[in-house]
Amino acid sequence: MQLFERLETSRIWDDEARMLLDAVQRVATEVIEPNAGPLDRSGEFPWENVAALNTLGLNGIFVPEAYGGTPMSYRLYLEVVKVISSACAATGIVYATTFHGMKPLIDFGTDEQKRRLLPVIAGGGLGSLMITEPTAGSDATGMRTRFTPEGSSIRIDGHKTFITQGDVADLLLVFGKWSEIEDPRQAISVLVIERGTGGFGVERLEDKMGIRASSTAALRFDGARVPRANLLGEPGDGLRILLASLNRSRPSIAAHALGIARAAFSDMVAYMNEREQSGRKIIDFQGNQFLIADLASELALNEAWLDHVASLVDGDAPDFGLEASVAKLRASDLAMRMATEAVQMHGGYGFTKDFRVERLMRDAKITQIWEGTNQIHRQLIGRSFRAR
Ligand SMILES: Cc1cc2nc3c(=O)[nH]c(=O)nc-3n(C[C@H](O)[C@H](O)[C@H](O)COP(=O)(O)OP(=O)(O)OC[C@H]3O[C@@H](n4cnc5c(N)ncnc54)[C@H](O)[C@@H]3O)c2cc1C
Repeated sequence: MQLFERLETSRIWDDEARMLLDAVQRVATEVIEPNAGPLDRSGEFPWENVAALNTLGLNGIFVPEAYGGTPMSYRLYLEVVKVISSACAATGIVYATTFHGMKPLIDFGTDEQKRRLLPVIAGGGLGSLMITEPTAGSDATGMRTRFTPEGSSIRIDGHKTFITQGDVADLLLVFGKWSEIEDPRQAISVLVIERGTGGFGVERLEDKMGIRASSTAALRFDGARVPRANLLGEPGDGLRILLASLNRSRPSIAAHALGIARAAFSDMVAYMNEREQSGRKIIDFQGNQFLIADLASELALNEAWLDHVASLVDGDAPDFGLEASVAKLRASDLAMRMATEAVQMHGGYGFTKDFRVERLMRDAKITQIWEGTNQIHRQLIGRSFRAR
């Protein structure tokens, strides 16, 4: 593991960040990791893990100080996602989803909205992001959820599907189309729904292959009403807000994927150093060394690239969409490959639930699907090279 130890020591954190990362690692090792297997089997929401993270005030690192947070860098946020996800991918995505859902409110909300809504998040509440619908997956502009202004409130009708923690979140960011705007792309708008609002509810919870402890809900809006004061920006600002938000959530998905990849790599190498066949450790077979070399190189390069993307975000770079796509694409493909090879290196034992790699392989798959499938990211990156 020398390579990764050297990589870690070359990454500079100030004292405050170092202390927080040590505390997150402690909670990850002592609370989150031991819960991960049982929660994967039961599919129960990881409330105990969330409570343990909240003792560290972790949501505060992305909420501005004026609204109850103690903000730190985006790079630190990504590292926190990685550490938690390495211990339990489901808990990692629970934490990251609150960021994904609330970042648009932080970036595009008015002072009044942030004062009213953000303290619940700074205090440890859960956020959720509602884009996907039965007819709108990779092409989000196909959404049919309708926002109809009615005096000082907005009526919501429609369906959302595959919404991470849509059943338990305190604040939900919902995308839909403004009834008074005809152009389907320009009609996209976004508003915040508070938990307990009438007229919407859970239709079903998905029974998933992986990240089983994070809940995934299909929801129905049937004349739900929110105050007009909960609209972000103006009617029709939704697509602009959506694209800006995805640029920040995609590196976060890369961090989640790299957490899974790290865990798989560490389990794989440990097992290869123990298991003997034909009188040798299986790490001593040259073919297996080539495999480790390829995977370790990929992991190191992905981690370095993610730091690069973080530095662009922390440096307020005007555009980092493609860099974010590269991070998401490569980290998620690596997580899937790493977990699959880790199972392979465990032989038959890797196929049983006695070893964590079996869960990691199931957890890794989603990283290639959400926040833009990897086909979509390949398109985004590829078409950026077309001559104008
Ligand atoms: C566990 C889980 C949690 C999720 N959480 C959330 C959430 O919190 N909020 C939210 O809004 N959404 C969430 N999603 C939805 C997720 O982002 C979508 O599933 C994803 O965007 C793909 O949409 P789709 O499932 O409708 O697939 P489709 O878009 O129907 O795609 C099907 C296949 O066609 C391919 N395809 C589609 N279009 C193209 C194209 N133009 N070119 C080439 N290939 C294409 C895709 O790559 C894919 O392989 C979640 C999904 C899951 C499974």
